[in-house]
Amino acid sequence: MRYLFLLTITPVQDFISQARKLKDLYGGSTILSKMSEVGIEYAKKRGATIIFPQQTEGKNSYPNRFLIEISFDNEDKLKSFASNMSNEILNYFRNLNKTKSSIVQKHIEDFFQIYWSASEYSGEYKDAFDEVEKRLAGAKNSRFFSQLGEVGRKCSICGERNIAIYQKPMRFYIKEQRKKLLVAKKSDNIQHGEGLCGVCYVKRKSTTKGFDSISDITIMNIPVEIRERYNYLQNDNQLFYEENLIKEYFQKNDIDYPLDECLRELQEFKKAIRGEYKQTSYYAIVMFDGDDMGKWLSGQKLNDKSRLKEFHKDISSYLSIFATEANHILKEPKGITVYAGGEDFLGFVNINNLFEVLQELNTQFNELISKPLKEKYGLSDNFTFSAGVVIAHYKTPLGTVLNEVRKSEKKAKKNAGKDSVCFTVLKRSGEIRETVLKFESFFELEYITKQLNKNFSDNFISVLEKEFLLMCDKNGELDNSLNSMVYTELERTLKRSLKIESAKDNIVLMVDSIRKIHTVNFRNFTNGLYICRFINKEIG
Ligand SMILES: [Zn+2]
Repeated sequence: MRYLFLLTITPVQDFISQARKLKDLYGGSTILSKMSEVGIEYAKKRGATIIFPQQTEGKNSYPNRFLIEISFDNEDKLKSFASNMSNEILNYFRNLNKTKSSIVQKHIEDFFQIYWSASEYSGEYKDAFDEVEKRLAGAKNSRFFSQLGEVGRKCSICGERNIAIYQKPMRFYIKEQRKKLLVAKKSDNIQHGEGLCGVCYVKRKSTTKGFDSISDITIMNIPVEIRERYNYLQNDNQLFYEENLIKEYFQKNDIDYPLDECLRELQEFKKAIRGEYKQTSYYAIVMFDGDDMGKWLSGQKLNDKSRLKEFHKDISSYLSIFATEANHILKEPKGITVYAGGEDFLGFVNINNLFEVLQELNTQFNELISKPLKEKYGLSDNFTFSAGVVIAHYKTPLGTVLNEVRKSEKKAKKNAGKDSVCFTVLKRSGEIRETVLKFESFFELEYITKQLNKNFSDNFISVLEKEFLLMCDKNGELDNSLNSMVYTELERTLKRSLKIESAKDNIVLMVDSIRKIHTVNFRNFTNGLYICRFINKEIG
């Protein structure tokens, strides 16, 4: 009998995004991708045909869900195949635990769940697919997990499970807890006062990838050749930031360089980059996934439903080709791609390259996925994605920024018609500015930012906000009938914000550009302008 077989590994979001360091993020996504790969390889060896994910060339991440076609004489054989495969996948994770700690082992045993479903596939592919999806959703719902609350000090990263390993000094309120725990060695890469549960510990340990601190991203726009000239500073990019050149910071991070030498190097570094490069403390996290994936995969948007299987394979291989391209688009010195696989993407961008990177990702998504799908299947809809983009200070806890970027992505997806991007700026002062825009109007942001750099002062933004915010309703919306007033006022204030007389002709273009990011929600609109102002101040 032939079956369609669908398997998913959970939880994914929490596993990846519970992170304090870049290493944790890399670790999480590498482990998940590896687990999927183990499952897929197992299935292939037993004669399965993989429908998705289709892997093309390049080192892309494997998504946590896969669909295969496989034959067995009877259902028992299918069941034992499923349970053996699940075990293989889980064993990969279990074997990452190199300690003898029973706490680590328990955390690891309990963490992942694998769900699978199968349906007989003798007639139409679409029927079998609908069935296998429905069954998987059912399997996920019917499982009940009792979470036994552990008493004691919790993990510094996830805050969910107890500490299994810690680095001194650490206080325990329940003295007994300390006895059973591992004390971290230097190679464990655990900071003073940090304590990790088994799962977070294994994540931290499981990657050798280089980037460790967020300042590695914020400093990227200044060429390595320049940074290498500084004997001490080059060893830790955080030392390029003056606020870290203090005794307390050195003690906390076990740095034994002479502080006065570091300070001298920093002065020289600042002199060397003056006028050439601007040092920023802000970076951006970009997260996106394909819009309406459920509708696409169910074949709802397909004219000829009998082509669904071919369509699944194509969509998956185009996504894989895009993932390879995404890894090329976002790499040093523009930033780093943490995860690109399936329809998901997560990357860190140096703020100098933010517009360029987003633009390029959007263009390639369209060129490599949407266009070929439309052509081959005569589709009327574009296949699009929506992105959350959060700009944050390198000292803001990574966990906080990752939470924001998830929220931001959700907001982008709620925007009518999707194909949107939600920008959030988290200033260190605590101020938050957020705007949701269609991807097409996002190009205007880049233009406005550039104009703010050269031709206009940003006064007009606060004037506009002051004048019209009072007329908005409680949701921040401004009545459409006032639009012409807004535009007249925009033109008047722009004239007064002109920095150089010769740029006079740009007023019309600027008004035009700003009108394109104008939304009914007035706060959303002015926040967009504030974000341009912020980015310009950081990079200009
Ligand atoms: Zn943890």
